[in-house]
Amino acid sequence: MTKLMEGKKGLVMGVANERSIAWGIAKNLADNGAKLAFTYQGEALEKRVRPLAQSVGSEFLLQCDVTDSASMDKAFDAIKEKFGAIDFIVHAIAFAPKEALHGAFINVSREDFATAMNISCFSFIDVCKRAQSIMNPGGSLVTLTYYGSEKVLPNYNVMGVAKAALEASVRYAACDLGPMGIRVNAVSAGPIKTLAAAGVGDINSMLRWNENNSPLRRIVTQDEVGKSALFLLSDLASAITGEVLYVDAGYNVIGMMATESVDKNLELLQTFPKK
Ligand code: NAP
Repeated sequence: MTKLMEGKKGLVMGVANERSIAWGIAKNLADNGAKLAFTYQGEALEKRVRPLAQSVGSEFLLQCDVTDSASMDKAFDAIKEKFGAIDFIVHAIAFAPKEALHGAFINVSREDFATAMNISCFSFIDVCKRAQSIMNPGGSLVTLTYYGSEKVLPNYNVMGVAKAALEASVRYAACDLGPMGIRVNAVSAGPIKTLAAAGVGDINSMLRWNENNSPLRRIVTQDEVGKSALFLLSDLASAITGEVLYVDAGYNVIGMMATESVDKNLELLQTFPKK
């Protein structure tokens, strides 16, 4: 039987280690026959990313810092040279300085705000712009977002504002690239213990809160997010663009904590960091 991504080539940006959401997506793409290129930010990461890439049959790794236009030019030129046209891009990149991820949101400095927006939002717009000249019609881009774009969550602060801008960018980019047959979507993942998540307050408490209160009464796995991104990147989603797909065990639909979890929730709330 033909695999879902057989004959398709694409780029995965944002694998830092085996816990990265981008890695969950990459594995699903590779299992379904896709040929992959990876970007990593710095020298130190190459050591961790190379064996992962090799395990899914890829030797194509490129250094790329999304804040540096020359580095982006170099990476996209190399992809064009080696792959020619590509079929998909995964953008799983975000960053905000630690000082901006606790205390009152309104205390964020101009510099930290700009950094968070630059790395977590503008980088995706830049990727979409570059996609025009490198993607086949029928191509698909996916970025990763979080519910903190819509509702206020402890310590998510400036990252929530950056994710709101990212989701709006998905809609605008979908309209720009749609006439070329290129789709643009976001996956809004429930909390997962990764390097980036560790930077936002107490991830363990967030995980337990989601487990206690989401409709499915559990958290999501990296593989489940990977499968959903695979769907959006594949032809199965050929008429879906400009969407934010929640992969969060249903957490975004609840309006109140689960009544059966009240005792567990009260106990958990005591452990949340105070402002
Ligand atoms: P992760 O493994 O730490 O991945 C974040 C990636 O962003 C890393 O590879 C990181 O590289 C990269 N990055 C940061 N600054 C960069 C730059 N200037 N240039 C190039 N790459 C840069 O964490 P993750 O949780 O999988 O995050 C992936 C995406 O999922 C992010 O957009 C995140 O907001 C989103 N998300 C995460 C969760 C969650 O609970 N984990 C939930 C919803 C959405 P370095 O390690 O070198 O900095």
